[in-house]
Amino acid sequence: MATKILMIYTGGTIGMVSDPVTGALKPLNFREIESEIPALRRLGVEIDYHEDFTPIDSSDVTPAEWARLAETLRDNYALYDGFVVLHGTDTMAYTASALSFMLENLAKPVVFTGSQIPIGVLRTDGRENLVTAVEIAAAHNSSGGPMVPEVSIYFQNRLFRANRTTKWSAEQLNAFTSENYPPLAEVGVTIHYNLAAIAAGSPNTPPLEISTTLNTDVALIRLFPGMEPRVLEAALNIEGLRGVVMQTYGAGNTPTADWFFDALRRAISRGTVIVNVTQCIAGGVHPIYESGVRLAGVGVTSGGDMTPEAAITRLMYVLGRELSPAETRSLLAGSLRGEMTL
Ligand code: ASP
Repeated sequence: MATKILMIYTGGTIGMVSDPVTGALKPLNFREIESEIPALRRLGVEIDYHEDFTPIDSSDVTPAEWARLAETLRDNYALYDGFVVLHGTDTMAYTASALSFMLENLAKPVVFTGSQIPIGVLRTDGRENLVTAVEIAAAHNSSGGPMVPEVSIYFQNRLFRANRTTKWSAEQLNAFTSENYPPLAEVGVTIHYNLAAIAAGSPNTPPLEISTTLNTDVALIRLFPGMEPRVLEAALNIEGLRGVVMQTYGAGNTPTADWFFDALRRAISRGTVIVNVTQCIAGGVHPIYESGVRLAGVGVTSGGDMTPEAAITRLMYVLGRELSPAETRSLLAGSLRGEMTL
């Protein structure tokens, strides 16, 4: 029986073709994708197309679209061997990270891809991204199970764990990077899977469940020299704020001034969770300098080497579960889907 893949189209540059009359870019009628990319028919994989989403520029994506995507995956989960999600590149790392948390007990591949150049343009990177994403979603390991049973992003010859990925370039075709976790696969003449890095699938995984309740009472605060105390105070005092991802310097460093720590202490005493991640694209937070040690002292949670995209979507997911403060802290201290090196 042929391997069955569901391709879900949500929008982004990958789905654009130029209007033959005006030359302007417009969304492709997705049923025509196989005529744009005839190679899809030669993969020996049965592909169904899901195009119920109104195509959007991914800058417009919200947790409502993430919930619909999770529901679509759940509703079709038993019918397909793997899933390919076509998504704009701008927020792909957020959506794919969010989905990695929202899909509980995932045991099948969900491969996100997109492109920097529209599919209808001759030099598009979308053709290769799309064909290889399907190949990866359909691949089996030596025991017959799915090769990559996790949420991933495939882009320009490399497959990454979704929640380790950041869009680093608005120009280069290799738009994504995963500095703190090795690629799950590298594609040259053959596809080389990094089995040691891929989440282990298990035949006894419990059924897929989805969590669609995300708490969006969160903020991402990036420190900068010269930040006024009143700016930090105002951000931390937002009504209803439940969680903050704070992007600090280097290995997790912050100003050492008392006003700074007093502001954090007050927010934490009001019940706001604060997670510390680095502004650097590689490496993580380690309490080696004075401020790092003091942050732990006032109750700031270490985000280790998480990307900001993973940290903020994970916070929405964990706060959405409405757990006790102790349970919330304990969930945030661990790695839920391989997003953080422990
Ligand atoms: N603005 C587009 C989007 O994210 C860019 C892309 O797809 O590459 O939807």
